Amino acid sequence: NTKEPWRPFNSSRVYMADLESALHYSLRVEVATHSVIKGDALISLKKYIAVLAKYFPGRTVMMNLLSSANSWLQNQAGDEISYEAFQEILDNSAQSPDTALPEGETWVGCQGSQPHFRRYPCGVWTLFHVLTVQALSIRATDPKEVLSAMRNYIRSFFGCRYCAEHFENMARESVMEVNTLSSAVLWLWSRHNRVNNRLAGALSEDPNFPKIQWPSPEMCSECHTVTVNGDHKWKEKEVLLYLQSYFSSDRILTDYLE
Ligand code: FAD
Repeated sequence: NTKEPWRPFNSSRVYMADLESALHYSLRVEVATHSVIKGDALISLKKYIAVLAKYFPGRTVMMNLLSSANSWLQNQAGDEISYEAFQEILDNSAQSPDTALPEGETWVGCQGSQPHFRRYPCGVWTLFHVLTVQALSIRATDPKEVLSAMRNYIRSFFGCRYCAEHFENMARESVMEVNTLSSAVLWLWSRHNRVNNRLAGALSEDPNFPKIQWPSPEMCSECHTVTVNGDHKWKEKEVLLYLQSYFSSDRILTDYLE
């Protein structure tokens, strides 16, 4: 029960260490709980890896790994694969010097004040915000591609099953309204705020990182306005600009990477 040392970080920045840790946990722990991957889960894994290979703004070694995992998966014509076979691709690539998935987790912006707070779920949100913003910035063709891969991944693999159910309900209700790359970015932002609203004050909340309607007025004053009757209203144009900058690939910090 060794407590990791606290890593000082800037709480208004995105860290590559969190994104890589999320990929490590997702591919080596979460997906690994399925010894055989078939049916919907196999479709989900293929879509997820394809989206990562396209939009993850990673280091060359990580991109090489994602690209070889993607080619291998796309070539699997049968209706099932074993996790072992997939793991071999992850491991084999890890042996070659130009590809790498990190060996462990190094949480930075997603550190919690206790080991059971934040970490992987925080990493998953961060990862998908980055991917929606990246798809927008490189003008992807399908506006629903990233969200649809996220929805499938969460439904098939996300360990917190009631979280997955909540997310699936939100997706079923409105994700079809997403018709542009910008609306995909805003959809994920607004659903994440709904989750924050539901979880504010819950036992799962890290007292040092309270759930807020994000971004706060301190982070982005232009994002907020008040209607004539005094209600709070978001200025979505400003929010979109803020998200594009906050999650943009060239602002991701590389501190604490091995
Ligand atoms: P997180 O909510 O994980 O956010 C991570 C970071 O993203 C924040 O630190 C902030 O920098 C940024 N951020 C915050 N809000 C936004 C926003 N609106 N838009 C863009 N960026 C933002 N837990 C439950 O207890 N019940 C659930 O039903 C549940 N459902 C979940 C569904 C999904 C799909 C996921 C990925 C997680 C879910 N969780 C749920 C976990 C929960 O949402 C948090 O991830 C967890 O409590 C850790 O919170 P956190 O403080 O690290 O911030």
